[in-house]
Amino acid sequence: MGCASARTVLLFTEMKDGALVLAGYDDGVTLFSRLRFLRCFLPACGSLLPASRLMAKEVFQGRTIVIDPGHGGTTDTGSDKDRNRSSSNNATSATLGIKEKDVTLELSLLIAERIAASPEAQSGKVRAVLTRSTDVNLNFTERAATVAEAGAVCFVSIHFNSHRSQRASGPRAVIQQAAKNPHYKADHTFALALAKAVEKASKTFHPKTPAAFVHDDHELHKGRGSYLFYQFNADEKTGRIPACHLEVEFLDNMELERPFFADRKKEVFPAWAGAIAAELIRQAQAAP
Ligand SMILES: [Zn+2]
Repeated sequence: MGCASARTVLLFTEMKDGALVLAGYDDGVTLFSRLRFLRCFLPACGSLLPASRLMAKEVFQGRTIVIDPGHGGTTDTGSDKDRNRSSSNNATSATLGIKEKDVTLELSLLIAERIAASPEAQSGKVRAVLTRSTDVNLNFTERAATVAEAGAVCFVSIHFNSHRSQRASGPRAVIQQAAKNPHYKADHTFALALAKAVEKASKTFHPKTPAAFVHDDHELHKGRGSYLFYQFNADEKTGRIPACHLEVEFLDNMELERPFFADRKKEVFPAWAGAIAAELIRQAQAAP
């Protein structure tokens, strides 16, 4: 394709990875350069190239893992009618007042960092993408859109749990109920491996940590299940990737504040992040 300006004609060609490359000028100068270096030329040909093509990103050739830090911000977003409502915060720790939305972000950032520093990421085999990296609350349509755009091969939404008894403990994962989920078995295997990785790391700090387990989402939203999985199912690709909510530990149990949360940045969160990152890398590489 080409486009004319007062001074010259720019000829573009599209590479296999989706990048537009300047292939030459009509004045005989041949120049190959990535689109991102060509912004100075764009006003001359913008009318002929749609914006999406102009902004074409290089396509990542490896496996993409999407990590979703649950909740965020100060207000709920989305709605029950659209099945995309995300609450800004659910659990709060018993005495220290630590909010779930903050520790989901802290831990997710660490997991993404661990993945980015891994040999697999350094050699382009995997990468981590976060749905949010600041204190904002995205509705579930927006979170699912990030997963679709990133071309994820697996997905985990990070959460911390609470229970009315304020005495519960242990890692749990939540997957979509079998009646709505043709990939229930694959989701169960994926979710259990992540929860068990957390359990192993947790036992270093709190030997009484109970065994990890997986349950489904049939109790959520009066049987309708998790809105996030509902949004995933609206898209053919996101509907079939292994996905779970990972409830790393209970935040509202006073007995767990000291071993897990009071001094979390020093040892516990790095240990959880390392365990979750390693399992996600393994799962991403094994994904079909
Ligand atoms: Zn949550």
